[in-house]
Amino acid sequence: MSLDSSCIEPEPAYHVNAEATKKVYLTFDDGPCESTAQILDILQEYQVPAAFFVIVREEEELIPLYRRIVEEGHVLANHTATHVYEHVYASFENLREEIEELEDYVEYVSGYAPEKIFRFPGGSTRAEKYLGNTVRKTIEAWGYRVMDWNCSGDDAIRQGVTAEEIYDSTIRTAKGKNPVIILLHSASYAPQTVAALPSILSYFQENGYVFSSLLEEDAPENWWMGEH
Ligand SMILES: [Zn+2]
Repeated sequence: MSLDSSCIEPEPAYHVNAEATKKVYLTFDDGPCESTAQILDILQEYQVPAAFFVIVREEEELIPLYRRIVEEGHVLANHTATHVYEHVYASFENLREEIEELEDYVEYVSGYAPEKIFRFPGGSTRAEKYLGNTVRKTIEAWGYRVMDWNCSGDDAIRQGVTAEEIYDSTIRTAKGKNPVIILLHSASYAPQTVAALPSILSYFQENGYVFSSLLEEDAPENWWMGEH
């Protein structure tokens, strides 16, 4: 029996499925710092929202950046006051004080309260090492969303990381994920992040991803490492 190709149903080239929109959430930790203004300029140019998990910075030239983050439509979120593991994670009491101190400080200097979205310094697995595996549930009980990441530019893992390495790490660790939650840093020890950013934004925009805000309704409520 010969195979009549006219009997074979053609396969559609692709399925259009609105539910399958690929979402990417861009996050910057440890700022504000000298690079934050440049990052904000680039985000404006590419029309991309981001979240900044900030700490207390008292330098006069950095203080206006808290306000600028909010007024340009980005999420200002909580990363504790000091980020010093030995202090933040010494006790649940310290952890709570660090979170509230950041809130009070940011509201005082910017006029805006940070969102109730929290990222543990070092991520939730680091926090668990110090305070045990109830720590994430405790933060939730205090009224905060917990936001880890599933994609990293590894821009602060050592000195001398190049922009190309940051780009490569980001793209490599984003592969096959939806949503993608990218961790980058706005910090003096991540000096090449600004240089890597335009190519990272272009990659996701050209590959069918939508940059989204953590405040949108369909954003993840929590994102915990190791559970996705
Ligand atoms: Zn951090």
